[in-house]
Amino acid sequence: MAPRKLAAGNWKMNGDLAALAEVDRLLAAHPAPACEVLLCPPAPLVQAMKARIGGGAIAVGGQDCHARVSGAHTGDVSAALLKDVGADYVILGHSERRADHGESDADVAAKATAAHAAGLVAVICVGETEAQRDAGETLAVIAAQLAGSIPQGATAANTVIAYEPVWAIGTGRTPTSAQIAEVHALMRERLQGAVSGADDVRLLYGGSVKPGNAAEIFAIPHVDGALVGGASLKAADFGPIVAAL
Ligand code: PEP
Repeated sequence: MAPRKLAAGNWKMNGDLAALAEVDRLLAAHPAPACEVLLCPPAPLVQAMKARIGGGAIAVGGQDCHARVSGAHTGDVSAALLKDVGADYVILGHSERRADHGESDADVAAKATAAHAAGLVAVICVGETEAQRDAGETLAVIAAQLAGSIPQGATAANTVIAYEPVWAIGTGRTPTSAQIAEVHALMRERLQGAVSGADDVRLLYGGSVKPGNAAEIFAIPHVDGALVGGASLKAADFGPIVAAL
């Protein structure tokens, strides 16, 4: 059976303990969603968010992890610790990590290996810049990022791929449905041989997903959910996206 579609929220460096009230609101409005729901708060909030959710139908994830299990890596968080405090997922290779911290595809693959070893599902992000799209390089960029970022041992159960065009993140701009369909079809094809159960790997679209465009995006072939930034912070915005899946 194919895994359930996934509505994933990335709080980025937003939120605090008071903001966990949004979790209560989301659970109250969507106690039994048809899709799987995931929220990824800043690491210090993972444990409190998990406790707040209790037995509710929301999974919790981190936004990054280190490739090593432990050691002298000041400021970093291990995959095992994320798992220990209640995470089931971790976002890896987000374009903001790639840009702000110089993360390469090889770094992302190493982190994904660590995530898998810790029992976390890795949400591996790929996406082209606007300059790359304008230069007609989108498919080549995505293919190269997939080839470099997906580690040995990836399966449909432990890996999710998020296509996030860098120019669509936080801008209010989205690709056309045809452009998203083209990239998602390429990703599905490139996963063959690279991931066990490639047809069942959930392929998310991310970049300015809002209540008003979610249904149209979710109707695109090979779109199995969304990775949502700004619109995941408030239940009033994220709830309708969850309901659209
Ligand atoms: C993101 O950063 O993963 C993202 C998709 O952001 P937004 O939804 O705000 O564009």
